[in-house]
Amino acid sequence: DAPLSEIDPEIAAVLDGEADRQRGTLEMIASENFAPRAVLQAQGSVLTNKYAEGYPGKRYYGGCEQVDVAEELARERAKQLFGAEHANVQPHSGASANAAVLQKLLTPGDTILGLDLAHGGHLTHGMRLNFSGMLYDAATYGVSEADHRIDMDQVRQVALERRPKMIIAGWSAYPRHLDFAAFRAIADEVGAYLLVDMAHFAGLVAAGVHPSPVPHAHVVTSTTHKTLTGPRAGIILCQADLAKKIDSGVFPGQQGGPLMHVIAAKAVAFKLAMTPEFKEKQERTLRGASILADRLLADDARATGVDVVTGGTDVHLVLADLRNSQLDGRQAEDRLHESGITANRNAVPFDPRPPMVTSGVRLGTPALATRGFGDAEFTEVADIVAGAFDPASDVAALRQRVDVLTEKFPLYTSVGPTA
Ligand code: PLP
Repeated sequence: DAPLSEIDPEIAAVLDGEADRQRGTLEMIASENFAPRAVLQAQGSVLTNKYAEGYPGKRYYGGCEQVDVAEELARERAKQLFGAEHANVQPHSGASANAAVLQKLLTPGDTILGLDLAHGGHLTHGMRLNFSGMLYDAATYGVSEADHRIDMDQVRQVALERRPKMIIAGWSAYPRHLDFAAFRAIADEVGAYLLVDMAHFAGLVAAGVHPSPVPHAHVVTSTTHKTLTGPRAGIILCQADLAKKIDSGVFPGQQGGPLMHVIAAKAVAFKLAMTPEFKEKQERTLRGASILADRLLADDARATGVDVVTGGTDVHLVLADLRNSQLDGRQAEDRLHESGITANRNAVPFDPRPPMVTSGVRLGTPALATRGFGDAEFTEVADIVAGAFDPASDVAALRQRVDVLTEKFPLYTSVGPTA
């Protein structure tokens, strides 16, 4: 029973080093967050030892009385949180949640219709090298060249031409609300299922600060680790009539034994997501993103060629458009990194540069909101980001301003990764 630091000092050093990195930088990767200590505790628990193939009350292994309680709590809380008729809390990840849904509701060769990856879609929505693009005939809709917003007339037109069996609405990099009712109307018109993948904005939905897809979609998938602030995993919500299919799509369709330690951590995250503190945090997340968008649209930033995709944001992220800047996406990401801000370069719609370079940066506010940032801090962060996008600025000076913020908002003070 020796501690990790004794058994494996190299891995212990990685854990310590990563905790220090998270503490000492500003995390603005839009898909990341800081799971609360209670979530980490559930996840790093003895539940990792338990096999529990099947579902609560219907397991293929003995000794499931405790883990049944955890999964039942997770399911009931997910249903309550999102107003869903049925929840499956077993998917290991967002990608495996989508795989289970597609496998069960479609036949290989069927047509699916999703947002183009180059316009903000996700790999699992039909990308050529992903299972979704290999097993299914993947059609795409995109954003309009004029305003970079999804054009529902175009979605309908492609749907009428390609007659998909499933329409997927959801994104990894799109800064606006989706019109779920319009998606459903098109799905009904062509006889398709509507799958909404709310991986990015699930936390906003849970807090009631973003429209909910649940009343509109046949099936909703999500990750639990982004805005939702839980463990790294996935969930599926659906109407009662699809419950059996979805459950068998996950197990035995896609997975073997569920990760009971992660499911327990999901239950904790869903409980926390019902609190007023969670809602208040999601409100700060949204305000932070709009403060950032406004700052990047100010005259001095525009003078350096910076723009914001769609001219703002409705959600937790901002897509900086650097097509007219001296910096490409990779250079901008590097300058942010040197300033102490972690973000990722990201293609903007109709990006002339290759995917490894890009002309954009995706910046998210969820992790900083979890860290406690409010309007004043986001105003300072926005100014630092605008500074990093100015090739003439001094990154060492920006780094000092980041250090002030990270010191003022300590992170994981009571989590000793190797303790
Ligand atoms: N769906 C969307 C919209 C995502 O943005 C992501 C993650 O980036 C996923 C699914 C996949 O989630 P995971 O990385 O847990 O497989």
